[in-house]
Amino acid sequence: MVRGRFAPSPTGRMHLGNVWAALLSWLSVRSQGGSWLLRIEDNDPQRSRQAWADLLMQDLEWLGLTWDDGPFYQSARSAFYEAYLERLVGQGLVYPCYCTRADILATQAPHESDGRVVYKGTCRPKDSFATLDALPSDAALRMRVPTGAQSLIGFEDGHYGCQTVNLEQACGDFIVRRKDGAWAYQLAVVVDDALMGVNEVVRGRDLLLSSPQQIYLARTLGFVAPRFSHVPLLLNEAGQRLSKRDRSTHMEALRRQYTANEILGRLAFWAGLTDRVQALSAEELIPLFDWNKIPREDISVG
Ligand code: GLU
Repeated sequence: MVRGRFAPSPTGRMHLGNVWAALLSWLSVRSQGGSWLLRIEDNDPQRSRQAWADLLMQDLEWLGLTWDDGPFYQSARSAFYEAYLERLVGQGLVYPCYCTRADILATQAPHESDGRVVYKGTCRPKDSFATLDALPSDAALRMRVPTGAQSLIGFEDGHYGCQTVNLEQACGDFIVRRKDGAWAYQLAVVVDDALMGVNEVVRGRDLLLSSPQQIYLARTLGFVAPRFSHVPLLLNEAGQRLSKRDRSTHMEALRRQYTANEILGRLAFWAGLTDRVQALSAEELIPLFDWNKIPREDISVG
């Protein structure tokens, strides 16, 4: 049985780009008779707010994007992340890092346009640490990626096809726990997808480059990685991925102007599921869903 998920970070009101990713994930799962869960990725205590999570759920309900399981809050799942971190430490893969900027960004999913730097191994020690207790608590923790040929991770994206990424060149050793103890996105997402039985991940293609990291982490922890299918991005008039800054596409503004079915119908048209813009409910879109119709190029909505 297919099990998909929507995993938003409650750091602002949902915008059209979030709804787009949620809708395509929901339709993919529903068209296969699978189940869909909701996970609130509130792993950064400084940026996450319960009020945003509440609005997010209200918006999903208003749109008719129903979930079968959850909401699961990452903030309540520390014990799981810690247990799996212990395993990585036991494999000699974790070391402390005192470099700062990347540490701050680690809880957020690394969207492609965010301009992240590749970590060159500044703090990488020769020796390894055998237990979590042996690691300093005032440092970020990084996980080693393999070097040489083993650094190549290949996978078949459900929509963008065959991908091969060299982890050493694409990201380098990555953060699994922030200096202040917050769990990094990569570790939390892999542990959660595995423990929650998620076997299909549909999300924006700006997270395509996170997939090899997640596959590597999943394999190292003995999990089977989910199947990833990335979708094109919605772009604003400046050609940038829609973000929380594009206020006109926030659900607050959209709900004042349109009905739920008008919004979904517009998204379905952009997804190539209909040949003209018409108001359609989420349920009505299920039989129309077809991966072959979804474009691969990003879509300008500005
Ligand atoms: N929580 C992430 C975000 O909102 C998405 C994670 C994912 O889909 O893997 O950017």
